[in-house]
Amino acid sequence: MREKILKLHHDAPTAAHYGADGTFSRISSKYYWTGMKKFISDYVKSCSECIRYKATNQEPAGLLQTPVPTQRFESIAIDLFGPLPEATEGMKWIFIVEDYTTKWVELFPLKQAIAKECAMTLLNEVFLRYGVPRRLISDNGTQFVSAVMQQLCFVLDINQSLIPVYPPQANPVERKIGFETSFGNDDR
Ligand SMILES: [Zn+2]
Repeated sequence: MREKILKLHHDAPTAAHYGADGTFSRISSKYYWTGMKKFISDYVKSCSECIRYKATNQEPAGLLQTPVPTQRFESIAIDLFGPLPEATEGMKWIFIVEDYTTKWVELFPLKQAIAKECAMTLLNEVFLRYGVPRRLISDNGTQFVSAVMQQLCFVLDINQSLIPVYPPQANPVERKIGFETSFGNDDR
């Protein structure tokens, strides 16, 4: 009888394919059997008409934001560390470049933490050796948001990702600096 009752109270033209709760309240006013609630909800869930026509109330899946690393030097992260005690030829800053995929790190000494020096180092020491990346990750330090850097990215068709200063964990290079800093403290 159960199938027949369900058909009558869910599928029939007058029944209008109510949801599990609606169908249950209709049937329970006239019938009772053990486990009828589950039986009805299973029936409604597997009703082919309902599956075809009813809009799901589930949120659409969001777009995956996690960057999926693919090729080496496709995304690189940059940061500056300093000023440090002046070394030979007046070098005071360390310009850090990390490949997002392989975690390969390269360090370059700079005299000044200015955009032009960063841009020239990127171009001559990184892009010309490893190829032009698709994405350049950095915090929004003045050197990195500067016109020189934006032009470099624009001309080479690089997607510049500026991450707010906090949280620095978002920039993989910042983690390297944390390591360098604690390493440096041990020396003192
Ligand atoms: Zn239905």
